[in-house]
Amino acid sequence: MSHPHFDYILAGAGAAGLSLAYRLAAPEFSGKRILLIDRSAKQENDRTWCFWETGAGIFEEVIFRSWHQVWFHGPEQSCELALAPYHYKMIRGVDFYHFTLEKIRKSPHITVMKAEIYDIGTQQGKSVVDCSEGTFTADWTFSSLLSNEEIHEAKKGLFLWQHFKGWVIDSEKPVFDPGRPVFMDFRVPQEDGSCFVYVLPFDEHQALVEFTVFSEEVWDKTTYDLYLKAYLKKFTTVTDYNIRQTELGRIPMASHHFPVHEGNTVFLGTAGGQTKGSTGYTFQNIQRHSEAIADALLKGKPPLIRPSRWKKRFRLYDHTLLRVLCKGYYKGAPLFERLFTRNPSQRILRFLDETSTLPEEIQLMNSVPRRIFAKAVAEQLLKG
Ligand SMILES: Cc1cc2nc3c(=O)[nH]c(=O)nc-3n(C[C@H](O)[C@H](O)[C@H](O)COP(=O)(O)OP(=O)(O)OC[C@H]3O[C@@H](n4cnc5c(N)ncnc54)[C@H](O)[C@@H]3O)c2cc1C
Repeated sequence: MSHPHFDYILAGAGAAGLSLAYRLAAPEFSGKRILLIDRSAKQENDRTWCFWETGAGIFEEVIFRSWHQVWFHGPEQSCELALAPYHYKMIRGVDFYHFTLEKIRKSPHITVMKAEIYDIGTQQGKSVVDCSEGTFTADWTFSSLLSNEEIHEAKKGLFLWQHFKGWVIDSEKPVFDPGRPVFMDFRVPQEDGSCFVYVLPFDEHQALVEFTVFSEEVWDKTTYDLYLKAYLKKFTTVTDYNIRQTELGRIPMASHHFPVHEGNTVFLGTAGGQTKGSTGYTFQNIQRHSEAIADALLKGKPPLIRPSRWKKRFRLYDHTLLRVLCKGYYKGAPLFERLFTRNPSQRILRFLDETSTLPEEIQLMNSVPRRIFAKAVAEQLLKG
């Protein structure tokens, strides 16, 4: 039996699916038939993305706030980080969903479908997607569905959850400095792994305050509340406030090699290894990945994007840092303090973006406890 066929199916319309669909909505792809499937209508503000960038990006219209300097607080030292030429930018999930879906819906070659996906496979050189609205085939399916089996596999290697709860709070009194967000504040109790808070002010009265933990297990939803309350009391002048919104989440930090593809299914987003193992940052990797996939498709090449040999060194750095944190060889709080107080922030951001030079990477290595990291590198090379 033949099923409706598309050139491309996008399974999942979150950050990765929508970032790719947004690019495929361009007139260059108007000759292709594309199907975008998600179980959710994407109407909720379920997350906030922060990332850094120089100049204007393709989602500039939906940047909610942007800062060029931020505070860093370590357990012993605090410093204000000047980020230029970078800006630390924030996009609210709901704004991103509306903006991208509006453009996608205006593109007659893309069909948007609300459905539960049950299975994705490859048969006779075609991708087959089975969902609640039927079965569809495609030349390529781009999937950002993260399965429990993949997380189970990932847990066999170095693995931590980055888990967090944030409150958007309204304060009667003007207590926030909208020009000075707190990027990381490690002065909080470090009881279960590495913990920090960030404070992203929207204006003098409103901010997102988020408590973040790197640890093996996620916490009960209410535990974060105690720490958020204690933080506001001890480190801010906020007294009377209302919680307007909450954000709860977890991101896998793993040394696992998430697959690039399986047959004609290409993996995107966290499921496609776009989450940086040592920090959890994903949004900008998704943009670079989507750009590379769209480019390959335009050139008629297979959309299988792999890091260049030269770039693979970053995987070793990343996994070494994750190993140090996972094994408790050095605590996250003093480690990040050393990094941020001994290096210009631009060097760290370039390093995290994987655009730093070797001399810069050596300077960064000189700012962390060398013996501990040498041991972790050696272990990483031996155990992979
Ligand atoms: C609360 C939160 C805050 C974050 N903040 C940042 C940040 O500040 N900076 C950063 O760089 N990264 C951040 N991340 C990490 C990362 O950027 C996000 O998780 C990002 O959304 C990952 O994109 P994705 O497309 O891989 O997954 P998602 O955005 O989760 O998209 C997956 C999509 O698949 C759909 N789906 C899943 N299963 C099915 C199914 N069976 N059938 C149909 N549809 C299905 C879901 O509805 C969803 O829309 C954050 C993550 C969370 C959870």
